Amino acid sequence: MSKIIHRSLRGTLPFAVSAQGVYLTDREGKQYIDGSGGAAVSCLGHGHPDVLAAMHAQIDKVAYAHTSFFTTDVAEELADTLIAKAPPGIGHVYFVSGGSEAIEAALKMARQYYVETGEPERSIFIARRQSYHGNTLGALAVGGNEWRRKQFAPILIDVGRVSPCYEYRDRRDGETPEQYSQRLGDELEGEIQRIGPRKIIAFIAEPVVGATLGAVTATPGYFKRVRQICDRYGILFIADEVMCGMGRTGSLHAVDQEGVRPDLMAIAKGLGGGYQPIGAVLASSRIVEAFRKGTGMFQHGHTYIGHATACAAALAVQKVFARDKLIEQVQSLGAYLEKRLHETFINSPYVGDLRGRGLFRGVELVADRATKKPFDPALKLHAKVKSEAMNQGLLCYPMGGTIDGVTGDHVLLAPPFICTEAQIDEIVDKLARAIETGTHALKHAA
Ligand code: PMP
Repeated sequence: MSKIIHRSLRGTLPFAVSAQGVYLTDREGKQYIDGSGGAAVSCLGHGHPDVLAAMHAQIDKVAYAHTSFFTTDVAEELADTLIAKAPPGIGHVYFVSGGSEAIEAALKMARQYYVETGEPERSIFIARRQSYHGNTLGALAVGGNEWRRKQFAPILIDVGRVSPCYEYRDRRDGETPEQYSQRLGDELEGEIQRIGPRKIIAFIAEPVVGATLGAVTATPGYFKRVRQICDRYGILFIADEVMCGMGRTGSLHAVDQEGVRPDLMAIAKGLGGGYQPIGAVLASSRIVEAFRKGTGMFQHGHTYIGHATACAAALAVQKVFARDKLIEQVQSLGAYLEKRLHETFINSPYVGDLRGRGLFRGVELVADRATKKPFDPALKLHAKVKSEAMNQGLLCYPMGGTIDGVTGDHVLLAPPFICTEAQIDEIVDKLARAIETGTHALKHAA
Protein backbone atom coordinates (compact mmCIF):
# COMPACT_ATOMS: atom_id res chain seq x y z
CA MET A 1 0.00 0.00 0.00
CA SER A 2 1.40 3.40 -1.03
CA LYS A 3 2.37 5.79 1.77
CA ILE A 4 1.58 8.76 -0.48
CA ILE A 5 -1.69 10.62 0.00
CA HIS A 6 -2.69 10.24 -3.65
CA ARG A 7 -5.67 12.10 -5.09
CA SER A 8 -7.73 9.00 -4.53
CA LEU A 9 -7.01 6.87 -1.52
CA ARG A 10 -8.87 4.01 -3.12
CA GLY A 11 -7.48 2.01 -6.01
CA THR A 12 -4.01 2.03 -7.49
CA LEU A 13 -2.21 4.03 -10.12
CA PRO A 14 0.17 2.79 -12.81
CA PHE A 15 3.81 3.83 -12.28
CA ALA A 16 5.13 6.20 -14.94
CA VAL A 17 8.69 5.09 -15.68
CA SER A 18 9.59 6.98 -18.84
CA ALA A 19 8.22 9.70 -21.07
CA GLN A 20 9.33 10.92 -24.46
CA GLY A 21 7.60 13.28 -26.88
CA VAL A 22 3.85 12.74 -26.76
CA TYR A 23 3.98 9.37 -24.96
CA LEU A 24 4.39 8.15 -21.38
CA THR A 25 5.20 4.53 -20.54
CA ASP A 26 4.26 2.67 -17.38
CA ARG A 27 6.11 -0.05 -15.48
CA GLU A 28 4.35 -2.79 -17.46
CA GLY A 29 5.56 -1.25 -20.70
CA LYS A 30 2.17 0.12 -21.69
CA GLN A 31 2.26 3.39 -23.67
CA TYR A 32 -0.15 6.29 -23.19
CA ILE A 33 -0.56 9.15 -25.63
CA ASP A 34 -0.70 12.43 -23.73
CA GLY A 35 -3.94 13.89 -25.10
CA SER A 36 -4.27 16.43 -22.31
CA GLY A 37 -0.62 17.32 -21.63
CA GLY A 38 -1.27 16.08 -18.09
CA ALA A 39 -3.55 18.94 -17.05
CA ALA A 40 -2.71 21.24 -19.99
CA VAL A 41 0.89 21.41 -18.79
CA SER A 42 3.20 19.51 -21.15
CA CYS A 43 3.17 21.94 -24.09
CA LEU A 44 6.53 20.66 -25.41
CA GLY A 45 5.78 17.03 -24.64
CA HIS A 46 8.25 15.04 -22.60
CA GLY A 47 12.03 14.82 -22.66
CA HIS A 48 12.53 17.91 -24.81
CA PRO A 49 16.32 18.15 -25.30
CA ASP A 50 16.50 21.97 -25.20
CA VAL A 51 14.72 22.22 -21.87
CA LEU A 52 16.75 19.40 -20.34
CA ALA A 53 20.00 21.01 -21.52
CA ALA A 54 19.00 24.42 -20.13
CA MET A 55 18.13 22.88 -16.76
CA HIS A 56 21.37 20.91 -16.61
CA ALA A 57 23.41 24.00 -17.46
CA GLN A 58 21.63 26.05 -14.80
CA ILE A 59 22.04 23.41 -12.10
CA ASP A 60 25.76 23.35 -12.83
CA LYS A 61 25.92 27.15 -12.38
CA VAL A 62 23.46 27.91 -9.59
CA ALA A 63 20.44 25.70 -8.97
CA TYR A 64 18.83 28.02 -6.43
CA ALA A 65 19.61 31.34 -4.78
CA HIS A 66 17.25 32.86 -2.24
CA THR A 67 15.57 36.02 -3.57
CA SER A 68 16.21 38.06 -0.44
CA PHE A 69 19.92 37.93 -1.36
CA PHE A 70 20.15 37.55 -5.14
CA THR A 71 18.54 37.77 -8.53
CA THR A 72 19.80 35.58 -11.42
CA ASP A 73 20.43 36.00 -15.15
CA VAL A 74 17.80 33.44 -16.05
CA ALA A 75 15.08 35.02 -13.90
CA GLU A 76 15.81 38.48 -15.36
CA GLU A 77 15.94 37.19 -18.94
CA LEU A 78 12.72 35.25 -18.49
CA ALA A 79 11.04 38.38 -17.09
CA ASP A 80 12.26 40.45 -20.07
CA THR A 81 11.05 37.79 -22.51
CA LEU A 82 7.59 37.58 -20.93
CA ILE A 83 7.17 41.35 -20.67
CA ALA A 84 8.18 41.87 -24.29
CA LYS A 85 5.23 39.66 -25.33
CA ALA A 86 2.71 40.71 -22.68
CA PRO A 87 -0.39 42.82 -23.33
CA PRO A 88 0.27 46.59 -23.28
CA GLY A 89 0.49 48.04 -19.78
CA ILE A 90 1.94 44.88 -18.23
CA GLY A 91 5.44 45.77 -17.09
CA HIS A 92 6.50 43.42 -14.31
CA VAL A 93 6.60 39.76 -13.31
CA TYR A 94 6.45 37.95 -9.99
CA PHE A 95 7.62 34.31 -10.16
CA VAL A 96 6.05 31.63 -7.98
CA SER A 97 5.90 27.83 -8.03
CA GLY A 98 2.51 27.13 -9.63
CA GLY A 99 -1.00 28.23 -10.48
CA SER A 100 -2.56 28.48 -7.02
CA GLU A 101 0.41 30.49 -5.77
CA ALA A 102 0.07 32.79 -8.77
CA ILE A 103 -3.58 33.41 -7.94
CA GLU A 104 -2.81 34.02 -4.26
CA ALA A 105 -0.13 36.52 -5.24
CA ALA A 106 -2.44 38.25 -7.74
CA LEU A 107 -5.21 38.59 -5.14
CA LYS A 108 -2.79 40.02 -2.60
CA MET A 109 -1.22 42.39 -5.13
CA ALA A 110 -4.67 43.68 -6.03
CA ARG A 111 -5.53 44.23 -2.36
CA GLN A 112 -2.19 45.90 -1.60
CA TYR A 113 -2.64 48.20 -4.59
CA TYR A 114 -5.73 49.72 -3.00
CA VAL A 115 -4.09 49.96 0.41
CA GLU A 116 -1.14 51.78 -1.17
CA THR A 117 -3.40 54.14 -3.13
CA GLY A 118 -5.57 55.11 -0.17
CA GLU A 119 -8.65 52.94 -0.70
CA PRO A 120 -8.28 50.32 2.06
CA GLU A 121 -12.06 49.93 2.26
CA ARG A 122 -11.87 47.80 -0.90
CA SER A 123 -11.88 44.23 0.39
CA ILE A 124 -14.13 42.09 -1.82
CA PHE A 125 -13.45 40.08 -4.97
CA ILE A 126 -16.08 39.15 -7.55
CA ALA A 127 -15.74 35.84 -9.37
CA ARG A 128 -17.88 33.50 -11.42
CA ARG A 129 -19.86 30.45 -10.49
CA GLN A 130 -18.49 27.10 -11.67
CA SER A 131 -14.95 28.44 -11.88
CA TYR A 132 -11.64 27.06 -10.64
CA HIS A 133 -8.69 29.20 -9.58
CA GLY A 134 -6.68 26.82 -7.42
CA ASN A 135 -6.81 24.91 -4.17
CA THR A 136 -5.12 27.19 -1.63
CA LEU A 137 -7.57 29.05 0.62
CA GLY A 138 -7.65 32.38 -1.26
CA ALA A 139 -7.80 30.73 -4.67
CA LEU A 140 -10.43 28.26 -3.45
CA ALA A 141 -12.48 31.15 -2.06
CA VAL A 142 -12.67 32.98 -5.38
CA GLY A 143 -13.30 29.69 -7.20
CA GLY A 144 -16.93 28.81 -7.68
CA ASN A 145 -16.75 25.04 -7.88
CA GLU A 146 -19.09 23.85 -5.17
CA TRP A 147 -17.73 20.31 -5.10
CA ARG A 148 -14.23 21.57 -4.31
CA ARG A 149 -15.20 24.27 -1.83
CA LYS A 150 -18.16 22.78 0.08
CA GLN A 151 -16.39 21.41 3.16
CA PHE A 152 -14.03 24.40 3.38
CA ALA A 153 -16.68 27.10 2.87
CA PRO A 154 -16.77 28.20 6.55
CA ILE A 155 -13.08 29.12 6.45
CA LEU A 156 -13.12 30.97 3.10
CA ILE A 157 -13.42 34.73 2.53
CA ASP A 158 -16.74 36.01 1.14
CA VAL A 159 -16.81 36.61 -2.58
CA GLY A 160 -19.35 38.25 -4.92
CA ARG A 161 -20.67 35.88 -7.60
CA VAL A 162 -21.88 36.15 -11.16
CA SER A 163 -22.70 33.60 -13.86
CA PRO A 164 -20.00 32.13 -16.07
CA CYS A 165 -20.12 32.87 -19.79
CA TYR A 166 -21.37 29.48 -20.94
CA GLU A 167 -23.17 29.85 -24.20
CA TYR A 168 -24.08 26.19 -24.79
CA ARG A 169 -26.26 26.03 -21.69
CA ASP A 170 -27.10 29.58 -20.76
CA ARG A 171 -27.66 31.66 -23.90
CA ARG A 172 -31.40 32.00 -24.31
CA ASP A 173 -33.38 31.16 -27.43
CA GLY A 174 -33.56 34.22 -29.63
CA GLU A 175 -30.72 35.94 -27.83
CA THR A 176 -27.67 36.78 -30.00
CA PRO A 177 -24.20 36.03 -28.60
CA GLU A 178 -23.66 39.79 -28.33
CA GLN A 179 -26.92 40.24 -26.37
CA TYR A 180 -25.86 37.39 -24.11
CA SER A 181 -22.52 39.14 -23.45
CA GLN A 182 -24.47 42.31 -22.69
CA ARG A 183 -26.77 40.49 -20.27
CA LEU A 184 -23.82 38.99 -18.41
CA GLY A 185 -22.25 42.44 -18.22
CA ASP A 186 -25.50 43.77 -16.72
CA GLU A 187 -25.36 40.97 -14.16
CA LEU A 188 -21.80 41.92 -13.21
CA GLU A 189 -22.83 45.54 -12.87
CA GLY A 190 -25.78 44.50 -10.70
CA GLU A 191 -23.47 42.53 -8.40
CA ILE A 192 -21.11 45.51 -8.14
CA GLN A 193 -24.03 47.75 -7.18
CA ARG A 194 -25.31 45.22 -4.66
CA ILE A 195 -21.94 44.98 -2.88
CA GLY A 196 -21.04 48.65 -3.29
CA PRO A 197 -18.54 49.68 -5.98
CA ARG A 198 -16.04 51.17 -3.54
CA LYS A 199 -15.79 47.94 -1.58
CA ILE A 200 -14.61 45.86 -4.53
CA ILE A 201 -10.98 45.05 -5.30
CA ALA A 202 -11.15 43.03 -8.49
CA PHE A 203 -13.09 40.78 -10.82
CA ILE A 204 -11.35 37.50 -11.64
CA ALA A 205 -12.11 35.15 -14.54
CA GLU A 206 -10.52 32.65 -16.89
CA PRO A 207 -10.56 34.00 -20.47
CA VAL A 208 -11.15 30.45 -21.72
CA VAL A 209 -12.52 28.21 -18.97
CA GLY A 210 -10.53 25.02 -18.51
CA ALA A 211 -11.14 22.38 -15.89
CA THR A 212 -14.61 23.30 -14.63
CA LEU A 213 -16.40 23.71 -17.96
CA GLY A 214 -14.10 22.20 -20.58
CA ALA A 215 -12.57 24.79 -22.94
CA VAL A 216 -15.45 27.26 -22.92
CA THR A 217 -14.70 30.46 -24.81
CA ALA A 218 -16.49 33.72 -24.09
CA THR A 219 -19.08 35.14 -26.48
CA PRO A 220 -18.03 38.16 -28.58
CA GLY A 221 -17.70 41.36 -26.60
CA TYR A 222 -17.96 39.70 -23.18
CA PHE A 223 -14.47 40.59 -21.95
CA LYS A 224 -14.60 44.05 -23.55
CA ARG A 225 -17.75 44.71 -21.54
CA VAL A 226 -16.09 43.33 -18.38
CA ARG A 227 -13.14 45.66 -18.91
CA GLN A 228 -15.42 48.70 -19.44
CA ILE A 229 -17.40 47.91 -16.29
CA CYS A 230 -14.25 47.39 -14.21
CA ASP A 231 -12.89 50.72 -15.46
CA ARG A 232 -16.15 52.50 -14.71
CA TYR A 233 -15.96 51.46 -11.04
CA GLY A 234 -12.19 51.51 -10.59
CA ILE A 235 -12.09 47.73 -10.14
CA LEU A 236 -9.09 45.67 -11.26
CA PHE A 237 -9.47 42.84 -13.76
CA ILE A 238 -7.46 39.67 -13.03
CA ALA A 239 -7.16 37.17 -15.89
CA ASP A 240 -6.51 33.60 -14.73
CA GLU A 241 -4.50 32.17 -17.62
CA VAL A 242 -3.00 29.34 -15.57
CA MET A 243 -4.52 26.77 -17.92
CA CYS A 244 -5.51 28.65 -21.08
CA GLY A 245 -2.37 30.80 -21.35
CA MET A 246 1.13 30.22 -22.73
CA GLY A 247 0.11 29.55 -26.30
CA ARG A 248 -2.52 26.92 -25.57
CA THR A 249 -5.32 28.72 -27.45
CA GLY A 250 -3.19 29.85 -30.39
CA SER A 251 -1.90 33.14 -28.98
CA LEU A 252 0.63 33.47 -26.19
CA HIS A 253 -2.10 34.82 -23.90
CA ALA A 254 -5.77 33.94 -24.31
CA VAL A 255 -6.75 37.60 -23.69
CA ASP A 256 -4.79 38.58 -26.81
CA GLN A 257 -7.76 37.27 -28.79
CA GLU A 258 -10.26 39.20 -26.69
CA GLY A 259 -8.61 42.57 -27.26
CA VAL A 260 -8.54 43.51 -23.58
CA ARG A 261 -5.80 44.42 -21.13
CA PRO A 262 -5.95 42.80 -17.72
CA ASP A 263 -4.37 44.56 -14.73
CA LEU A 264 -2.99 41.28 -13.44
CA MET A 265 -2.55 37.91 -15.12
CA ALA A 266 -1.75 34.56 -13.53
CA ILE A 267 0.18 32.07 -15.66
CA ALA A 268 1.64 28.64 -14.81
CA LYS A 269 1.32 25.12 -16.32
CA GLY A 270 2.70 25.71 -19.87
CA LEU A 271 5.17 28.28 -18.53
CA GLY A 272 7.43 25.49 -17.28
CA GLY A 273 5.88 22.85 -19.52
CA GLY A 274 5.99 20.38 -16.63
CA TYR A 275 9.79 20.39 -16.51
CA GLN A 276 9.79 22.50 -13.35
CA PRO A 277 7.04 23.80 -11.07
CA ILE A 278 6.75 27.48 -11.96
CA GLY A 279 4.00 30.09 -12.23
CA ALA A 280 3.97 33.86 -12.45
CA VAL A 281 1.90 36.97 -12.02
CA LEU A 282 2.20 39.50 -14.82
CA ALA A 283 1.40 42.88 -13.30
CA SER A 284 0.59 46.24 -14.83
CA SER A 285 3.18 48.95 -14.26
CA ARG A 286 0.51 51.09 -12.57
CA ILE A 287 0.29 48.57 -9.73
CA VAL A 288 4.01 48.13 -9.28
CA GLU A 289 4.61 51.89 -9.42
CA ALA A 290 2.10 52.33 -6.60
CA PHE A 291 4.08 49.82 -4.51
CA ARG A 292 7.34 51.55 -5.36
CA LYS A 293 6.02 54.95 -4.31
CA GLY A 294 4.38 53.50 -1.19
CA THR A 295 5.90 50.85 1.03
CA GLY A 296 8.51 49.99 -1.60
CA MET A 297 7.75 46.28 -1.52
CA PHE A 298 5.15 43.64 -2.27
CA GLN A 299 4.19 42.26 1.13
CA HIS A 300 4.42 38.61 0.16
CA GLY A 301 6.99 35.90 -0.54
CA HIS A 302 7.70 32.19 -0.64
CA THR A 303 10.99 30.34 -0.30
CA TYR A 304 11.04 29.20 -3.92
CA ILE A 305 9.99 32.40 -5.74
CA GLY A 306 12.20 33.07 -8.76
CA HIS A 307 13.77 29.60 -8.52
CA ALA A 308 16.74 29.65 -10.91
CA THR A 309 16.35 26.13 -12.32
CA ALA A 310 12.62 26.65 -12.80
CA CYS A 311 13.29 29.96 -14.58
CA ALA A 312 15.89 28.24 -16.81
CA ALA A 313 13.33 25.63 -17.83
CA ALA A 314 10.67 28.27 -18.53
CA LEU A 315 13.12 30.39 -20.52
CA ALA A 316 14.02 27.38 -22.64
CA VAL A 317 10.30 26.73 -23.26
CA GLN A 318 9.90 30.33 -24.49
CA LYS A 319 12.93 29.99 -26.77
CA VAL A 320 11.59 26.78 -28.31
CA PHE A 321 8.18 28.45 -28.85
CA ALA A 322 9.88 31.25 -30.80
CA ARG A 323 12.45 29.18 -32.73
CA ASP A 324 10.01 26.42 -33.77
CA LYS A 325 7.07 28.80 -34.35
CA LEU A 326 4.98 26.68 -32.03
CA ILE A 327 2.19 29.18 -31.43
CA GLU A 328 1.53 29.19 -35.18
CA GLN A 329 1.60 25.40 -35.00
CA VAL A 330 -1.05 25.48 -32.26
CA GLN A 331 -3.28 27.43 -34.65
CA SER A 332 -2.90 24.97 -37.53
CA LEU A 333 -2.95 21.81 -35.42
CA GLY A 334 -5.84 23.25 -33.42
CA ALA A 335 -7.82 23.67 -36.64
CA TYR A 336 -7.00 20.07 -37.54
CA LEU A 337 -8.07 18.82 -34.10
CA GLU A 338 -11.31 20.78 -34.37
CA LYS A 339 -12.03 19.29 -37.80
CA ARG A 340 -11.32 15.74 -36.60
CA LEU A 341 -13.53 16.17 -33.54
CA HIS A 342 -16.39 17.48 -35.68
CA GLU A 343 -16.04 14.64 -38.22
CA THR A 344 -15.88 12.05 -35.48
CA PHE A 345 -18.66 13.24 -33.21
CA ILE A 346 -21.08 14.90 -35.62
CA ASN A 347 -23.51 12.01 -35.35
CA SER A 348 -22.72 10.90 -31.82
CA PRO A 349 -25.92 10.81 -29.78
CA TYR A 350 -23.99 11.62 -26.61
CA VAL A 351 -21.89 14.58 -27.69
CA GLY A 352 -23.81 17.79 -27.08
CA ASP A 353 -21.14 20.39 -27.73
CA LEU A 354 -17.66 20.69 -29.21
CA ARG A 355 -15.81 23.86 -28.31
CA GLY A 356 -12.51 25.52 -27.57
CA ARG A 357 -9.69 27.27 -29.31
CA GLY A 358 -6.28 26.16 -30.55
CA LEU A 359 -5.10 22.99 -28.83
CA PHE A 360 -7.56 23.50 -25.99
CA ARG A 361 -10.74 21.59 -26.83
CA GLY A 362 -13.80 20.48 -24.89
CA VAL A 363 -16.36 17.77 -25.59
CA GLU A 364 -19.57 17.97 -23.55
CA LEU A 365 -21.36 14.68 -23.04
CA VAL A 366 -25.15 14.56 -22.73
CA ALA A 367 -27.76 11.84 -22.34
CA ASP A 368 -30.00 13.62 -24.85
CA ARG A 369 -28.69 15.95 -27.53
CA ALA A 370 -32.03 17.61 -28.26
CA THR A 371 -32.80 18.58 -24.67
CA LYS A 372 -29.11 18.83 -23.56
CA LYS A 373 -30.06 16.68 -20.59
CA PRO A 374 -26.89 15.50 -18.88
CA PHE A 375 -26.26 11.98 -17.68
CA ASP A 376 -27.25 11.29 -14.09
CA PRO A 377 -24.26 12.58 -12.07
CA ALA A 378 -24.41 9.50 -9.84
CA LEU A 379 -23.32 7.44 -12.87
CA LYS A 380 -20.00 9.34 -12.95
CA LEU A 381 -19.64 9.08 -16.69
CA HIS A 382 -16.51 11.27 -16.67
CA ALA A 383 -14.72 8.76 -14.44
CA LYS A 384 -15.76 5.89 -16.73
CA VAL A 385 -14.50 7.75 -19.81
CA LYS A 386 -11.20 8.44 -18.05
CA SER A 387 -10.61 4.80 -17.14
CA GLU A 388 -11.75 3.59 -20.58
CA ALA A 389 -9.36 6.08 -22.17
CA MET A 390 -6.51 4.83 -20.01
CA ASN A 391 -7.37 1.27 -21.01
CA GLN A 392 -7.00 2.40 -24.62
CA GLY A 393 -3.69 4.11 -23.82
CA LEU A 394 -5.02 7.69 -23.93
CA LEU A 395 -4.61 10.41 -21.30
CA CYS A 396 -7.46 12.91 -21.45
CA TYR A 397 -9.08 15.11 -18.79
CA PRO A 398 -12.74 14.22 -18.15
CA MET A 399 -14.62 16.15 -15.45
CA GLY A 400 -18.10 16.47 -14.05
CA GLY A 401 -19.47 19.89 -13.27
CA THR A 402 -22.53 21.69 -11.96
CA ILE A 403 -24.20 24.63 -13.62
CA ASP A 404 -27.08 26.08 -11.68
CA GLY A 405 -27.93 22.68 -10.37
CA VAL A 406 -27.39 20.84 -13.67
CA THR A 407 -24.47 18.45 -13.54
CA GLY A 408 -22.86 17.42 -16.78
CA ASP A 409 -19.76 15.62 -17.98
CA HIS A 410 -17.12 16.91 -20.32
CA VAL A 411 -13.71 15.89 -21.59
CA LEU A 412 -10.86 18.35 -22.01
CA LEU A 413 -8.14 17.78 -24.61
CA ALA A 414 -4.89 19.75 -24.48
CA PRO A 415 -2.23 17.86 -26.43
CA PRO A 416 1.40 18.99 -26.64
CA PHE A 417 2.15 21.60 -29.33
CA ILE A 418 4.72 19.26 -30.89
CA CYS A 419 2.07 16.68 -31.90
CA THR A 420 1.78 15.42 -35.45
CA GLU A 421 -1.54 15.14 -37.28
CA ALA A 422 -1.24 11.35 -37.03
CA GLN A 423 -0.98 11.67 -33.24
CA ILE A 424 -4.04 13.94 -33.20
CA ASP A 425 -5.86 11.20 -35.15
CA GLU A 426 -4.76 8.66 -32.54
CA ILE A 427 -6.05 10.87 -29.70
CA VAL A 428 -9.44 11.46 -31.35
CA ASP A 429 -9.92 7.81 -32.35
CA LYS A 430 -9.09 6.58 -28.85
CA LEU A 431 -11.35 9.20 -27.28
CA ALA A 432 -14.22 8.14 -29.53
CA ARG A 433 -13.79 4.53 -28.42
CA ALA A 434 -13.59 5.55 -24.75
CA ILE A 435 -16.78 7.63 -25.01
CA GLU A 436 -18.56 4.87 -26.88
CA THR A 437 -17.56 2.22 -24.36
CA GLY A 438 -18.28 4.48 -21.37
CA THR A 439 -21.74 5.55 -22.55
CA HIS A 440 -22.58 2.04 -23.78
CA ALA A 441 -21.83 0.64 -20.31
CA LEU A 442 -24.15 3.24 -18.76
CA LYS A 443 -26.97 2.63 -21.21
CA HIS A 444 -26.81 -1.07 -20.44
CA ALA A 445 -26.68 -0.46 -16.70
CA ALA A 446 -29.76 1.83 -16.91
N1 PMP B 1 -6.26 28.35 -12.13
C1 PMP B 1 -6.68 27.55 -13.12
C2 PMP B 1 -7.53 28.12 -14.21
C3 PMP B 1 -6.31 26.20 -13.16
O1 PMP B 1 -6.74 25.41 -14.15
C4 PMP B 1 -5.48 25.71 -12.12
C5 PMP B 1 -5.03 24.24 -12.11
N2 PMP B 1 -5.83 23.35 -12.75
C6 PMP B 1 -5.08 26.58 -11.11
C7 PMP B 1 -5.48 27.88 -11.15
C8 PMP B 1 -4.20 26.09 -9.97
O2 PMP B 1 -2.95 25.76 -10.44
P1 PMP B 1 -2.01 24.74 -9.62
O3 PMP B 1 -2.68 23.42 -9.67
O4 PMP B 1 -0.72 24.79 -10.38
O5 PMP B 1 -1.88 25.26 -8.25
